[in-house]
Amino acid sequence: VKLTFTTIYTKGKGSAGTIAVLQDVTGQEKLEESRREFVANVSHELRTPLTTIKSYLEALEDGALEDPELAGKFVSVTRNETERMIRLVTDLLQLSRLDSEQAIINKQLTSARAMLEDAADRFSFQLEEQSIEIFIQVESTAGEIAVDRDRIDQVLDNLVSNAIKYTPDGGQISLRARRVEPQLLEVTVQDNGIGIPKKDLNRIFDRFYRVDKARSRSMGGTGLGLSIAREIVKAHGGSIVLESELGEGTKVSFTLPYLQEEAAV
Ligand code: ADP
Repeated sequence: VKLTFTTIYTKGKGSAGTIAVLQDVTGQEKLEESRREFVANVSHELRTPLTTIKSYLEALEDGALEDPELAGKFVSVTRNETERMIRLVTDLLQLSRLDSEQAIINKQLTSARAMLEDAADRFSFQLEEQSIEIFIQVESTAGEIAVDRDRIDQVLDNLVSNAIKYTPDGGQISLRARRVEPQLLEVTVQDNGIGIPKKDLNRIFDRFYRVDKARSRSMGGTGLGLSIAREIVKAHGGSIVLESELGEGTKVSFTLPYLQEEAAV
């Protein structure tokens, strides 16, 4: 809280009194602080792959180019890092559109079952590679719901890809959908993976927040997946929660209202 004193003078009569103004600046300062942190994070996240690319290109220039095997490896590293930057910039653009409310939510009636089954299909290759079993359970009352299909697919992709990233080979993932209230669908993505320590839970939806930076990076994560999921769910008028037990697994549930007019578009 900022306190400012202003003395009021009236012409020819000297001071007429003092006004004390109490202003709540904590909100503003917090916003400024989180903006600064965000810019620092973005710069760092972009700088890291750029530095790697630069050093590999230099090594190629300094002779690695003559060794076809080495050259191939170095080129593939620079390509991976470039792909990481593209992912990051794509995620940032998406977040900025969601932030500025430019995001147009294009709703269409979609079956809850189809959404979950399609999401599982998109990951069938990875699931098989890691021998992870996936279970789909859709209550018959879930039915159809008006959502922006592309965006909800993105939410499901972010959650399922996290479940896969943070679940050891041979693990299990379940996707569930049920009507929890007459006008509310709940979708849950649960895994029996590494889980999240208690101390990290309240920051997990923050942009760039990661429990283990190195692990997330090596898995191709940008640290923005959960924040994007949350913004999309919010834009549909729903909410998202994450529960986790270290070493036991993680469960993320989000809700979506059935009634189109209830959603904050
Ligand atoms: P990332 O790109 O790093 O996965 P997210 O925003 O999607 O970014 O997630 C933030 C962090 O939350 C991750 O780095 C990871 O530490 C943790 N996390 C998210 N989902 C899971 C999960 N299913 N199991 C364990 N940890 C998770």
